[in-house]
Amino acid sequence: MIEFERSARELDLEARTAAFIRDVVIPYERDPRCTTHGPSDELVRELHDHARAAGLLAPQVGEEWGGQGLCHREIATVLRASGYSMLGPIAMNCMAPDEGNMHLLERVATPAQKERFLRPLAAGEVRSAFLMTEPDGGAGSDPSMLRTTARQDGREWVISGRKWLITGARGAAFGIIMARTEQAATMFLADMNTPGIVIERVLNTIDESMPGGHAIVALNDVRVNDADVLGAAHEGFKYAQVRLAPARLTHCMRWWGAARRAHDIATDYACTRQAFKKPLIEHEGVGFMLARNEVELEQTRLLIDYVAWTLDQGSKGTAESSMAKYACGETLYAIADRCVQVLGGLGITDETPVGQILREIRSFRIYDGPSEVHLWSLANRLQRKWQRGRSSTSS
Ligand SMILES: Cc1cc2nc3c(=O)[nH]c(=O)nc-3n(C[C@H](O)[C@H](O)[C@H](O)COP(=O)(O)OP(=O)(O)OC[C@H]3O[C@@H](n4cnc5c(N)ncnc54)[C@H](O)[C@@H]3O)c2cc1C
Repeated sequence: MIEFERSARELDLEARTAAFIRDVVIPYERDPRCTTHGPSDELVRELHDHARAAGLLAPQVGEEWGGQGLCHREIATVLRASGYSMLGPIAMNCMAPDEGNMHLLERVATPAQKERFLRPLAAGEVRSAFLMTEPDGGAGSDPSMLRTTARQDGREWVISGRKWLITGARGAAFGIIMARTEQAATMFLADMNTPGIVIERVLNTIDESMPGGHAIVALNDVRVNDADVLGAAHEGFKYAQVRLAPARLTHCMRWWGAARRAHDIATDYACTRQAFKKPLIEHEGVGFMLARNEVELEQTRLLIDYVAWTLDQGSKGTAESSMAKYACGETLYAIADRCVQVLGGLGITDETPVGQILREIRSFRIYDGPSEVHLWSLANRLQRKWQRGRSSTSS
């Protein structure tokens, strides 16, 4: 049975996170070290120091790694609160791609790999990258189109290929590289200063919150050891699934917080700004936009909590997380768009964070599976279910 009641620990963490974001993080939003490719690493370290002092650094990881050992439901509560500022998840070290990488390392890495890669990552000492997507017709929506290869040479592997849209590659200490091996795929851990890893350039994109931006990375005969295979060889596609469902959901949580912020700003504006002799919110066109936001924020919050609960029950949550990713991507974007509209001209300026929230959530509709890919895979599942039902009634 799904419980709506929240634990005392969850409520305490939510309140402490909200206060931390309001009092410490939001004042940094105007810091000149926030660039179009995310906050500088100097600023990230400063924000981490504040989160560490507040006992809020990497709350999502296990206690062994310095976190709070939260269940998915509790993570949902904390990450939504962290997302109220786009700098919040960065400050608290629960931002993509590091948060998804920590999750994967916790579940799949060997003890030695955890000490070498997970410990400094969870402590906020380094950043990481996840290298899967490729330009030039390689892996994208369809990961089976992977072109980067890794061949074994004695006790080493030689990785060759090109990746792009790689968040945080510039400035990351290490990356998790997905490469084709024989008929399958393998994930490799590599220090980003390994000879052969070349950051060609950082792309200019409509979103700009993520440290290091999104880069094109060449992998020119990169040599790694057997010990750098993440988990076991040829299990890359399986591990991608381990990372994918929870990582999709944590994106939903963080962007939910950002949409809530946009909605609060729009509500404040609509209640104070007058037009035609009354506050904007009293004009039905505006009031209904904000009322729809309220409804849809609750709907998406409940969906996130439901999917987190299914993960807590031990389910892989593949279909459920697809539903959440689709629904949150589309709905939170519509909410942010309404907020821009309610703010009028102010909405498209950078005088408030609402315009940037819209652009960030626009990108979210593409990564970790574009909306259409989630609908397509849900439709496939529906067809298989229908076929199974037909064969069981006809037999
Ligand atoms: C901001 C951002 C950050 C990213 N960070 C990373 C990262 O750190 N590491 C990494 O490896 N990748 C990253 N990516 C890449 C991301 O995972 C891919 O963009 C995504 O998987 C889609 O692949 P693609 O861009 O090649 O689109 P394509 O595969 O070319 O698809 C284009 C469009 O075709 C449509 N489409 C595709 N398949 C179907 C289908 N079956 N049914 C219906 N429509 C379909 C969708 O509308 C889709 O948007 C990032 C992307 C963005 C935008």
